[in-house]
Amino acid sequence: MTKKGNSSSKAGSPSGSGRGRGKNALTFKPAVAWSGLKPAELKKVDSLSRDYMAFLNAARTERETVRELVRIAEKEGFCSLADAKKVTPGDRLYLIHKDRSITFAVAGKRPLSEGANMVASHVDCPRLDLKMRPLYGDKDSQTALLRTHYYGGIRKYHWVNTPLELRGVIYTKDGKRKEVELDDVRFLVPDLLPHLGKSQNEKKLADAFTGEDLQVLAGSRPAKGKHDDPLAMNILEELNRRLGIGEEDLVSAELTLVPSWDAREVGFDRSMIAAYGQDDRVNAFLSLVALLELKTPDMWAMAVCYDKEEVGSEGPGGAQTRMLSSTFGALMDLEDPNCPDRALRRGLERSRALSADVKSGVNPLFKSVQEFQNAAHIGRGPTLTKYTGARGKSAANDARAEFVGHVRGVLNRSKIPFQVSETGKVDEGGGGTVAKFLARENMDVVDIGVPLLSMHSPFEVSSKVDLHCTRRFFTAFFEDGSGLNLS
Ligand code: MN
Ligand code: MN
Repeated sequence: MTKKGNSSSKAGSPSGSGRGRGKNALTFKPAVAWSGLKPAELKKVDSLSRDYMAFLNAARTERETVRELVRIAEKEGFCSLADAKKVTPGDRLYLIHKDRSITFAVAGKRPLSEGANMVASHVDCPRLDLKMRPLYGDKDSQTALLRTHYYGGIRKYHWVNTPLELRGVIYTKDGKRKEVELDDVRFLVPDLLPHLGKSQNEKKLADAFTGEDLQVLAGSRPAKGKHDDPLAMNILEELNRRLGIGEEDLVSAELTLVPSWDAREVGFDRSMIAAYGQDDRVNAFLSLVALLELKTPDMWAMAVCYDKEEVGSEGPGGAQTRMLSSTFGALMDLEDPNCPDRALRRGLERSRALSADVKSGVNPLFKSVQEFQNAAHIGRGPTLTKYTGARGKSAANDARAEFVGHVRGVLNRSKIPFQVSETGKVDEGGGGTVAKFLARENMDVVDIGVPLLSMHSPFEVSSKVDLHCTRRFFTAFFEDGSGLNLS
């Protein structure tokens, strides 16, 4: 451990001004981050929040998120790795993986074989995907419906009577790609009226809606002429008019229903942001913004935005693939085409990663699931989580003290408010992140990120000040080339 403990303890501010230290620097009490903000910083909070909301409105699916991140990065000098012939310190590169995940990198003064400072997030979000054969007409109700299969962990009742829009891609039988952004049309799962809700009310919350119940209204006008299913035929005719497709084309498609509402400020004081998709596009966005601020860092700096986290990081573009080592290989080839394989292994093992994912903030209406001393609160800055998992830290990456000490040193030296948290009470449940998959490369990794309320709902809530503090922290982490011998 290169950073001795005393250097970080000295960094405690005697006033404890929003930095989480008590008056005599002996106590640690995470403080409200708003109180330590200077007027110039408040302006930064506002402009970052505006940019973030515009980003979320343009990034409603994984593919749209990758596209939007690339648009922002290219404006600031990032180029596709595919177009690069060699690399020099300070160069800005990106590599898109399977259209749904992406890595951004800024070349450091030291070679990549000495490791990278990495922030890993995910850009996939819970949603309703269309089944491969979604469409049917229901004669009894005179409606056409689309069957869905939900993606990720959802509370099904959140998605009922919520305005949704259809987005994604379709590959036709002759291999043509069709982009679908039907933002002039809304869909919804129709719920029961209270007048007829007696039997539904008696069910448990989890049983009131099944996965098969999550079907959306697609139309109610029959097609002209004689057809087996005139209600479905009318929709097929409309899809053919709009997109030039037939029913079989829906088999080779990724069509997804996402909440159609825009990001909005919440509260009289406008201190919060509500939007769909903040888990975990918030950390993907902030990690890119932090990279944009770098000049030439000492070590390589990378923002890795994964797909598939919400379904266990399995499948192409997910953190369980060898995507990261392939990316390292491609970058090292630019530094030195004769780079030996052991340099790749060394680069991965010497890298330091933040698994940047959202955490559940204390919900004022459901406090009983939290143990307050180790719970995340919105407005107290990024929350550091040494381990995730469930029960006895099962399936957790439990970061070692040396690395947590390094991260804490970065936070302290940059005077960034932070807090620490677990997912909730020990036996209440739990969860995981990409941390344990990064750790398979034998690199140091710890969880830290923005706390949210209403996480995994169609309208998640973040605090503006937490965005600001987390962005500052990512920048400081990327800039920190110390601790190379963190062995
Ligand atoms: Mn999640
Ligand atoms: Mn997440």
